[in-house]
Amino acid sequence: MSEDCIFCQIVAGDIPGRTVYEDDTVLAFLDANPLSPGHTLVIPKDHHERLNNTPADVAGEVLSTLHELVPAVESAVDAPASTVAFNNGEVAGQEVPHVHGHIIPRFEDDGGRPIHALVNDRPDLSEDELDAIESDIVAEQA
Ligand code: 5GP
Ligand code: ZN
Repeated sequence: MSEDCIFCQIVAGDIPGRTVYEDDTVLAFLDANPLSPGHTLVIPKDHHERLNNTPADVAGEVLSTLHELVPAVESAVDAPASTVAFNNGEVAGQEVPHVHGHIIPRFEDDGGRPIHALVNDRPDLSEDELDAIESDIVAEQA
């Protein structure tokens, strides 16, 4: 537990949360400032700042919980779709530094936008630049 982490305090029961799923590793609860009805956060109970610091088995539990909850959340609020995403790191908009996946139910004409609208200007990358990025990412995993 990280003492000054809001989500660790929710896990510990020190701050109330509207829990929708819990097991030994994972907690899911309603977002206190929802972007839509049913906006749900899925977190590991242990404090890991972002996906990069999260052990693979724990990340797998978070993902499988997201997989279980997405249809339940959509059905509960009668949503035909959802945006499922992580703000992974401060520059990407992560405000709470305890890794969490968002399930944001989406509705017809909700005025929301797709992930493709995250940036204003897309980079104009050449085929060579794309090739270089491809091989760099492959090399990073070696
Ligand atoms: P982030 O920007 O870090 O990806 O998202 C953090 C989310 O946590 C926001 O959607 C925000 O509304 C939610 N949040 C922040 N503080 C609390 C809290 O104390 N309780 C709950 N349930 N959600 C919170
Ligand atoms: Zn934490």
